[in-house]
Amino acid sequence: MKAIHPFIRLLRDSELTASGCWQYTRPSYVGGNRYGAIKAWGKMVPVHRLSARWFLGHNGNEHVLHTCDNSRCWSPFHLYLGSHEDNMHDKRERGRGRSGKQKLTIEQVQEIKQAIEQGERNMHIAERYDISRSMVSSIRHGRYWA
Ligand SMILES: [Zn+2]
Repeated sequence: MKAIHPFIRLLRDSELTASGCWQYTRPSYVGGNRYGAIKAWGKMVPVHRLSARWFLGHNGNEHVLHTCDNSRCWSPFHLYLGSHEDNMHDKRERGRGRSGKQKLTIEQVQEIKQAIEQGERNMHIAERYDISRSMVSSIRHGRYWA
């Protein structure tokens, strides 16, 4: 029997979420963050790393980071390549987001929601309002309100 290409298996077992994530739905995970993973080339590979390799030219050295907080997402639109420092920075930002030190007004949250609806990327919105990407993601998923 001919092996099914991992991309086909990924497509078959993923769903498009309301926030635009390509979310892998099967219960197989690797790593502390419970990344979705599938068997490819004889080993379990996190799905976002496969995606980065196919669509972003990932060479295996850089970290693959999410602009969304969804560790099972493999949308190339939600992934970017970064250094170890970026990864640490991202983690710190996430931590800061949770501690609630960044404050936005109700008006700003409304503006951000509009920007999200208009398809603006988390990264750009985060830069404009000087907030973390994970915070924009929280607003996107309705987990944050002023
Ligand atoms: Zn995503």
